[in-house]
Amino acid sequence: MPRDRFGREIDYLRISLTDRCNLRCVYCMPLGDLGFLPGPELLTPAEIEAVVRAAVAVGFRKFRLTGGEPTLRADLLEVVARITAVPGVGELAMTTNGILLPKLAAPLAAAGLSRVNVHLDSLDPVRLARVMRWGSLEAVWDGIAAAEDAGLVPIKLNTVIVRGYNEDDVVPLAALTRERDWHVRFIETMPLGIEEPGRVARDGLVTSAELRARIVAALGPLTALPSAASDESRNHRLDGARGVVGFISPVSEPYCGACNRMRLTADGRFHLCLLRDDELDVRAALRAGADLDAVGAILLRAVGDKPTGHALHAGRSTEDRQMFQIGG
Ligand code: SAM
Repeated sequence: MPRDRFGREIDYLRISLTDRCNLRCVYCMPLGDLGFLPGPELLTPAEIEAVVRAAVAVGFRKFRLTGGEPTLRADLLEVVARITAVPGVGELAMTTNGILLPKLAAPLAAAGLSRVNVHLDSLDPVRLARVMRWGSLEAVWDGIAAAEDAGLVPIKLNTVIVRGYNEDDVVPLAALTRERDWHVRFIETMPLGIEEPGRVARDGLVTSAELRARIVAALGPLTALPSAASDESRNHRLDGARGVVGFISPVSEPYCGACNRMRLTADGRFHLCLLRDDELDVRAALRAGADLDAVGAILLRAVGDKPTGHALHAGRSTEDRQMFQIGG
C-alpha cells in the first residue's frame, strides 16, 4: 500500500467526473457563468480506467465517483463498468445529489456500482430550496428511494448545516435514523476558493459539537460506535435507532493525520489535499502516451508530495479551485 512521507497509508482515490452540477448550493457553487471545463478537457472513460488500473497496481483499493454532479456525465455507465471490471477494485461508490437516480440507480447497480452517498440538507422543502437554489426535496427524495430499491445500500446521506439556513433541520434529519437503517452524516462547512461560497461556508460554520448537543437535547443520548481510523465520520447511534448518526468535522476536529485520500480532478490532475492547491498533472502524460507504470509513478509522486494537512486554522485554503471543481 502506498505511504506518504508522514507514514500515512493512501489507498483511496476520489474521482471527479465533471465540474458541472444541476444544483447551486450556497456553500459550494456560485451563481452565474462559471466557465465550465470544455468536453475535450475532461478525462475520457478510457483515461479514467487507465488511472484506476495504475492506482490498483500501486496498491489503491477504494474508489469513489464525485463531481460536480457525476450523474450529469452522459458516459457515466461506461465509466462505472470500466472501473468495476478492473481486477482489484474493492468497491466503487458515488457521491451524488440524487436527482437523476430515479432513471440511473438500477443501471448503475447493474454496471457494478456498490452504493451511493446522497446529499440532503433539509427535510423542509422551502428551506432546502434556499440552500440548493435549484432542484427540489421531492426530486432528491425520489432519488434516495430509487437508490434503495436498486440495492445501492447502505444509504448514506451527506448533510451540510449552514448557520442562518438550516440549523433547525439537524434534529429531524438525525431522527430519520430511528426508523431507517440509513447513515446520516453531518459535514462541517469548509471554505474553498476566494468567492462567495467560501465566505458562506466560513461564516455559516456550525461545529459538530453544537450539532451533537442539539440532537442529544431533542432526541436523547448518542452512543459512540467503533469506526476505522481512516473513516472521517465519527459514528453514533440514538437509543433504539436502526441507522447511524455521523459527524465529519474537518474544521473543528481535523483528521488529517488519518487521511488516506488522493483526488483526481475531472481535468486530470491529482489534487493532493482537498483544502490546498497542490496538484500534479496526469492527463498530459496520458495524452502523451504514458504507459500504466508511468501513470503509477506520477500517482506515487503525488502520494509522496501530500501535505501534512490543511491550514484552515491559519486562515488558508484553496485559491485556485472551489469545491465543485475538486469533488468534495
Ligand atoms: N454533486 C454531488 C453531491 O451533491 O453530493 C457530489 C459533489 S459535492 C461537492 C460532494 C459533497 O460535498 C456534498 O455532500 C456536498 O454537500 C459537500 N459540500 C459541498 N461544498 C461543501 C463545503 N463548502 N463544505 C462542506 N461540504 C461541502
